[in-house]
Amino acid sequence: MPKLSGSCLCGAVSYKGEAEPLFAGNCHCTDCRKSSAGGHMALMAVPAPAVEITGDVKGYEMKADSGATVTHHFCPNCGSQMYNTNTNMAGVTVLVATTLDDPDAFQPQVSVFASRALSWDQPNPATQQFDEMPPMGD
Ligand SMILES: [Zn+2]
Ligand SMILES: [Zn+2]
Repeated sequence: MPKLSGSCLCGAVSYKGEAEPLFAGNCHCTDCRKSSAGGHMALMAVPAPAVEITGDVKGYEMKADSGATVTHHFCPNCGSQMYNTNTNMAGVTVLVATTLDDPDAFQPQVSVFASRALSWDQPNPATQQFDEMPPMGD
């Protein structure tokens, strides 16, 4: 299984673990753009028990289009976004893949909310693209 470790910019918050990602993709939605300060957010969902998070994070809660409450967890010292949790996905931690020590541990499979992608940050052509959020089957 891929080894996952990462940290925020200042190092106060870090995580490590080992998991086969449940989801690895880029999200081009407006919330991700604003919260990440980038054109999209690189997200990797893993089973929550698979990663151990060290350091205190601060959480910002908001309602997503889906009606779920999404909490953005970030380092209160340097502001790096570390992971999200979502009331529709209990037991899942959605890591912000740009915090990985080894960025190649993230291999995006899909681009979601591709319809909202910016002219200067188009969806990765190597990924499967969805205009909105695809239905999450199980
Ligand atoms: Zn930090
Ligand atoms: Zn998003």
